[in-house]
Amino acid sequence: MKLTTSFGDNKEYIRVKALEKSFPVRDNVVKVLKDVNLTLPQNKFIVVFGPSGSGKSTLLNLLLGLEKPDKGELSIGGFRLDREDVETTTNFRKERVGVITQQPNWIKSANVLNNVAFPLLLHGVPSYKAYTRAMELIALMGMKPWVNFYPTELSYGQQQKIAVARALVTDPEVIVADEPTGNLDYESGLNLVNILSELCKNGRTVLMVTHDLNNVELSDIVVRVFDGRVVEVINTKDNSMRELKKYLIDYSKFVESGTRAVSKLDITPIDPEAVKADTLNIFQRIKGLLINTVDAFSTTLFVLMSLIVKTLYLLLSFKFLPTPLKNSRFILEASYDRLISFTKLTKPNSIKPTQLLDIAIRSLFFRKTRAIITIGGISIGIAFTVFLLSIGFGIERLVISRVASLAVLNQLDIYPSNARQLVINNESIEEFKKFDNVTDALPILNMAGRIEYQESNLDAVVFSVQSKYLNYSDFSLIEGQYFNSDSLPEYIVDVEESEESLTTTDENEDLVTVDIGSNYIKDAVVNLALLRNIGLSSSEAIGREIDLSFVLTNDSNKNEVEVETTFQKYKIVGVIANQDTPVIYIPIKTIEMFGNIDYTQARIVTSDQSMVQSVRDSFEIQGYKTTSVLDTITQIEQLFNTARTVFLAVGIVALSVASLGMFNTLTVSLLERTKEVGIMKVIGLSSRETKQLFLSESILISLFGTIVGIIGGLLGGFIFSLLISVISLSRANLFVNISYLPLETALLILVVALLIGLVTGYYPAYRATRISPLEALRYE
Ligand code: ADP
Ligand code: MG
Repeated sequence: MKLTTSFGDNKEYIRVKALEKSFPVRDNVVKVLKDVNLTLPQNKFIVVFGPSGSGKSTLLNLLLGLEKPDKGELSIGGFRLDREDVETTTNFRKERVGVITQQPNWIKSANVLNNVAFPLLLHGVPSYKAYTRAMELIALMGMKPWVNFYPTELSYGQQQKIAVARALVTDPEVIVADEPTGNLDYESGLNLVNILSELCKNGRTVLMVTHDLNNVELSDIVVRVFDGRVVEVINTKDNSMRELKKYLIDYSKFVESGTRAVSKLDITPIDPEAVKADTLNIFQRIKGLLINTVDAFSTTLFVLMSLIVKTLYLLLSFKFLPTPLKNSRFILEASYDRLISFTKLTKPNSIKPTQLLDIAIRSLFFRKTRAIITIGGISIGIAFTVFLLSIGFGIERLVISRVASLAVLNQLDIYPSNARQLVINNESIEEFKKFDNVTDALPILNMAGRIEYQESNLDAVVFSVQSKYLNYSDFSLIEGQYFNSDSLPEYIVDVEESEESLTTTDENEDLVTVDIGSNYIKDAVVNLALLRNIGLSSSEAIGREIDLSFVLTNDSNKNEVEVETTFQKYKIVGVIANQDTPVIYIPIKTIEMFGNIDYTQARIVTSDQSMVQSVRDSFEIQGYKTTSVLDTITQIEQLFNTARTVFLAVGIVALSVASLGMFNTLTVSLLERTKEVGIMKVIGLSSRETKQLFLSESILISLFGTIVGIIGGLLGGFIFSLLISVISLSRANLFVNISYLPLETALLILVVALLIGLVTGYYPAYRATRISPLEALRYE
């Protein structure tokens, strides 16, 4: 950007040759400019003077490159406006032209300072430099006290001064103003024209359209336009002002009284042949779509990165930080800018992503209620989804943790098969231990038992196991300990004696009652269900003795005999957590006196969880039946997967409704901002930057909405857990968190929501690129 003014003295600075321009009106074509020819020098205050409707604005719009001529040539300072495309002319205006419109036009969400600095930002000037320069010009216009006001809070006269500051901030070589005094009172108008005439003293060219005679006085050249033609170019200094004014007044009078011949309107019907819409072919469309998609994604990336950089920048400017650390934020910003320019995704001479983000954020904040409602809509949709999903995941996690701790996931149980005549006995247990990846095999004998304690007696499931089994399992030991020996003290192992006392007491041949001696006490571990049934609490249970008899089906010699033992004393050494049915675990040695018996099952411990399946297969090939907690977990997971799919569907519906709301907001807000978009384009916002600006807004909305939604959903889950815990406090006594969201799911939701933001934001963003800059100049 040029900050010093030194323009040449080009005699043919503005050149217009055989220029024609028509507009379609209904079915006709109205010729507005008819063969305009004009050559104007640089460094002059040029006033285009003519009655209303004579085509002055049309001529000016063509000179700004906002419209294309039908025929003829026109150029400013060598730039061929009739030849160059939209992007190039936009850039031409950005680099070389300052524009002042009749109706002041502003970025409504930006204050005076930001509005004046805006053209500089489009040049890629760092914010602090842009603000310094903007301040200079605002001060020059005597508007310093108003920098923090919104322009629309000021009077028209004040607004036009700000508009001059904005037009001058990039130090353009030509200032173009269409009826800039149109909305001003006499004095303010005169003041403004004075300022404009001053500008030419520094080598600038000023081109002003007016139909007000008072504005002619300070001009160097008057271009008289009448009925779509330049009828005269008058050098003001060659004439006495009085004569010139009189001449022009007479001329105006003629026009008003109609005494001078007003040529008929040049109207011809539209030639249908000429209106062939220039349709794009399929390849151009696909190419456009691809470019747009890449653009949309790169914009998302920019917005996210810029947000991060911006947040870091703000954190680093925290006033209590040490100065070197605080200063590092400038390095951060500079490095980020360098990174961005390195990617070549933004042109070097264009607005920085962080600045674009600033504008988008300001625009969101400016329309607070609307932003809150839109972001709120997205948040509720996301929160709802997150809540349902987190409860789903949470309950699943809870159930699985109740089913099995991680420790038992490497284990499986195997059962003999009657059909294949496979048994599990001490020999087979030794065989199992030799299997690949099997680290241990533990015999289990599951029996029915009877328990007597004081007055009460009840049926219980008896597991005769090794103490290792208890350690491997994930029972939660509430009280005491496990029996830690699998061998009984020697004095009590007196099998001979026991076998001698084996007596049949029943007429039923199959049932044999065995007295296994009552002079010794064995250890046992019981569960809470059993204690409840005999009326003991877990704390008083340890050390108590209960009587147990169990029924053993010994079919090792293939003559199914049920053996019922006499009641024996067992000492409770440990209590494990509640289960539904009363269970008692007794040492496996207790039943060893019955010889080589067949076990009801075996617990197989594998080297690793991943080995369970292969080990399982090798047992199943032999004919054993197997079970594993993994089965249950798989079932639970399947159940919850179904539930989650339903939750997700509900969430997607909620989100779709929310994104429709967002779409609506963006579209409506765009309609409101056509003039704002128009003026930004007049100043030099490229169509790509326009798209980026609007996409930034929609990405911001969905990003904020998603983050608030995820937090809200998790909070909802937490509160829900709290409520459930309070309700069930009498039983569980502790807080159970039943809401949980895996990080990858949270990230997935974030990505999906951003995509939704992108898709919903895309159409309004695309529409924004279609807005004509003329919207800003149109006078209402
Ligand atoms: P001025 O600025 O001198 O008042 P304009 O250049 O605005 O005149 O307009 C000249 C004529 O062209 C007017 O009759 C106007 O109605 C017509 N005109 C200008 N722009 C358009 C347009 N986009 N479509 C149709 N007619 C237009
Ligand atoms: Mg006009």
